[in-house]
Amino acid sequence: MSDKSLHRYPLQLDEDWHVHSTYSDGKGTLEENLSAAEAAGLTLLCFVEHVRKDSDWLDAYIKHCAHLRQGSPLEIKIGVEAKFQDEFGTLDCPELTDEIDYVFAADHRVPLGMSCYCPKDVKQWIEQGMITKERVILGIVNATCAAMKRYKNIVIAHLFSILPKLGILIEEVRLEHLMRIAECARETNTPIEVDERWCAPDIRTASFLYLQGVQLVASTDSHISRRIGKYHHVANVHSALSRFSKMHSSQTVDARFHIQADNDAKETLVPAA
Ligand SMILES: [Zn+2]
Ligand SMILES: [Zn+2]
Repeated sequence: MSDKSLHRYPLQLDEDWHVHSTYSDGKGTLEENLSAAEAAGLTLLCFVEHVRKDSDWLDAYIKHCAHLRQGSPLEIKIGVEAKFQDEFGTLDCPELTDEIDYVFAADHRVPLGMSCYCPKDVKQWIEQGMITKERVILGIVNATCAAMKRYKNIVIAHLFSILPKLGILIEEVRLEHLMRIAECARETNTPIEVDERWCAPDIRTASFLYLQGVQLVASTDSHISRRIGKYHHVANVHSALSRFSKMHSSQTVDARFHIQADNDAKETLVPAA
């Protein structure tokens, strides 16, 4: 396993860190995905497939990826995507070997306590006053941070993509939660992907993470070969980050962002003028 692809700060648009094939729910084969990545002029492609504890095709998948890696002009990475199972960051994945370069931790369900729940149910519980939005956000943040500490070679997939399904706005995520995620990512050297399919994280959150020194990586989360390496949301994030990196180096992160308390005394991030 190599992590030489990391620290190419900031976001590289000639890379795609998250594409699915027919090994899980993608429409293209690994070969078709690789051809599409070459046609798109990418320099790095990370194959990623959904796994569960009982996935029994992992060996064949790894061998297949490793075979395609031979002689490829692209840097090929082998990844899997697993969902949180609880608030303690446990991922629903089989035993992971060193041949797997990255494990993408995904918020497909809502981790609360010892279990995880369907977003539709949790949305209903919020509407019925059975649980607060703050508690639900805390569950997602706890699981995200715990997974970073618990597993090596983890990538956080489409951070907060589950919020819209729960009727929660990104603005409702408190600054202290974003700080915790940024600190954990930095301490554990965990990249966070900027995902085209889910437009997650949004520009504001991605900018905050970037300014906090978190490594961001570009991904389409594509399930169709022709979408590989094609960016719109990720390109917008890239433009925003490029503006930050052009700013004078004497300007600190604190100067670029300040915290403004609104009427509800919620902390809101506002780019400094
Ligand atoms: Zn996903
Ligand atoms: Zn995915």
